Amino acid sequence: MSDDADLLADLTPDQRAAVMHGEGPLLILAGAGSGKTRVITRRVAYLLRAGVRAHNILAITFTNKAAGEMKNRVEKLAPGNRVWVSTFHSLGARLLRQYAERLGFDRNFTIYDTDDRNKLVKDALEAAGIDNVKFTPERIAGAISKAKNQLVTPPQYERTATDFFQKTVAAVYPRYEKRLRSANAMDFDDLLYLPAMALKQNEELRAELDSRFRYIMIDEYQDTNSAQYQIVKQLSINNPNVCVVGDPDQSIYKWRGSDIKIILDFERDFPNARTITLAQNYRSTKSIIRAASVLIDHNKQRKKKDLVTDNPQGEPVNVITFDNGLDEAEGVVVRIKEAVKAGTFKYRDHAIFMRINALTRSLESAFVKHGVPFQIVKGLAFFERKENRDVLAYLRLLTNPHDGVSFLRVVNAPARGIGKVSLDKLQSFAASQEIGLLAAAGQIAKITEIKGKAATGLRDFHRLMTDLRSKMVQPPHELVRLVLDKSGYEAMLRDSTDEEDADRLANVSELVTAAKQFWDEDNSRTITDFLEQITLASDTDGWDEQADHVSVMTLHASKGLEFPAVYILAVEQGLLPHERSLANDEEIEEERRLCFVGMTRAMKELYLCHARMREFRGQLNYCIVSQFIQELPRDVRFIDPSMARNVARTAADEWRVKSSAAAKDWADTGLRPLIPPASRKPNPGLKPTIPDAPDTGLAVGVLVQH
Ligand code: ATP
Ligand code: MG
Repeated sequence: MSDDADLLADLTPDQRAAVMHGEGPLLILAGAGSGKTRVITRRVAYLLRAGVRAHNILAITFTNKAAGEMKNRVEKLAPGNRVWVSTFHSLGARLLRQYAERLGFDRNFTIYDTDDRNKLVKDALEAAGIDNVKFTPERIAGAISKAKNQLVTPPQYERTATDFFQKTVAAVYPRYEKRLRSANAMDFDDLLYLPAMALKQNEELRAELDSRFRYIMIDEYQDTNSAQYQIVKQLSINNPNVCVVGDPDQSIYKWRGSDIKIILDFERDFPNARTITLAQNYRSTKSIIRAASVLIDHNKQRKKKDLVTDNPQGEPVNVITFDNGLDEAEGVVVRIKEAVKAGTFKYRDHAIFMRINALTRSLESAFVKHGVPFQIVKGLAFFERKENRDVLAYLRLLTNPHDGVSFLRVVNAPARGIGKVSLDKLQSFAASQEIGLLAAAGQIAKITEIKGKAATGLRDFHRLMTDLRSKMVQPPHELVRLVLDKSGYEAMLRDSTDEEDADRLANVSELVTAAKQFWDEDNSRTITDFLEQITLASDTDGWDEQADHVSVMTLHASKGLEFPAVYILAVEQGLLPHERSLANDEEIEEERRLCFVGMTRAMKELYLCHARMREFRGQLNYCIVSQFIQELPRDVRFIDPSMARNVARTAADEWRVKSSAAAKDWADTGLRPLIPPASRKPNPGLKPTIPDAPDTGLAVGVLVQH
């Protein structure tokens, strides 16, 4: 026990019980910030110290970033152990590669991203002879993705398809699958679908992996989908030592197929499950917890659960009303700058969340204008640039010569005089011979319809790829360098007079650096590992939380994180809740959970911002304050910078300094400024909401007594 004292000392009795739980299924159903993630990290370390081999432990997190963090923490708590910590998708990719032969796949498969997938669906649509004017490839791809996440096979889909759309999908789905397999490619959903299917159908493999992964820990279990659930279930039959943690109030990925029922049914699915609840929040002030709890209590489809904290009361939760979206961006950035100047917080203590990425643009200019360091956390946009995608396509084609999408992307980049007509002919030849496009290019002499420049171009391209393939053993960055050099891609950019090509040249060189860093971290990593890491990257992967800058991200990406001060922007009807959800109670509830997730990230200060007017999709609109703001408890603090300007009669630019003081004055008098006086800009959006919500404190007038 003394050995474990440091692992257990700073845990509550309930948390400790969860960490020390022995064999058998365990469900930790607990509120935001109650230590769920801490508990499973400690549990991994505890199991290791109890003598369980690292090899027998599997921990699943929701993002790669969280996986990396958990690995680090486990390493600190129990040094020298290499536990398998990953997301469900990375787990799937790894299993598929490791057991490729037994499952009948080629281990060099390429993972297609959304873009590639849509291209392939478009091909399959054409092959099915369907005019795709009515349904976009994206929409059909979405339906296929949903089917896969629910483990619905093409024949099963066809049997249940009733309306015209479903019938179209039913025609495309098998053709799309065939194309994927012949390109030796997988889409994202395959990374769950194929392992789930394999585990269901291959008892020998299932039993082997079940006993390998004797202990399984899963974070954010409220957001699992059917395919993920099947994987967990199949790996926990002989050794049902599965520990899941989650909070149904934070289920926010229904649109991606996650199903809240999976966590709610855990006790039924895993007999003899023990359930531990953690009610105490360690993250936030009482004010923040109260505001978030009152909000989420408006969800009807919810098991009531109280969240309490021993933390101080803290500042009231703030609702700031701005005149327009630009003022909002400006106001928030200036507030942050002042908080840093005053020594209250560092830049890195601040996060700004929003429902949609599009709102980051005005923020960016405000950050730049005020010299405030920031980082926008979204995807690895760097790898999505055209030039980098091109170079990556070369690499993908090298690792997987069957990859048709990548072949078509680079065969003429740089230009090799190969036109569309020749490529069509090449494709028919490849289809008739049932070979890949690159292999077909190798047999160019047999394709008599392709002549002249195109024939030479294809022959040269095939030679180039054969030559590069002989160098595959090189470390990833050396291979990237070789591709750039031998393909002529680098020379094309270098010789160009286009200024943007100079940028592109810098970007592809940066790709070499990225590959080098990747390899430096672990010399056993190959080019396939490099490509896989890029494809499976999630939004938060590139985020550096150590650097001293303000973090900007979507509400979805904020899951699991925490910051001393949080700003949520555009808390307005149509944006949060999102307009797509407005007609449907269930979806409004999901949006409310999303708002709840954002609010519960805040440790000390929380600001919900909204504007009276906002330019969105090129149009200036009046905005209606979000119903979620109206649902907050009455003790939130309302701040209206422009109101403070009126009252204090300060110069326009000074309002920001005065506003907090002015707002405090309002609060001290028990009065609060709310809606602008009639003389101010009309704001029809706010008025209609008032009669329905007399109790919220949102009322017309300058001041409202409460
Ligand atoms: P979320 O629902 O947002 O994912 P969570 O339940 O996973 O939250 P953690 O992130 O594990 O919660 O913990 C929230 C914060 O509280 C962290 O800063 C953590 O270090 C701290 N914490 C957790 N348990 C304790 C404890 N017993 N004593 C002190 N601090 C704790
Ligand atoms: Mg957590």
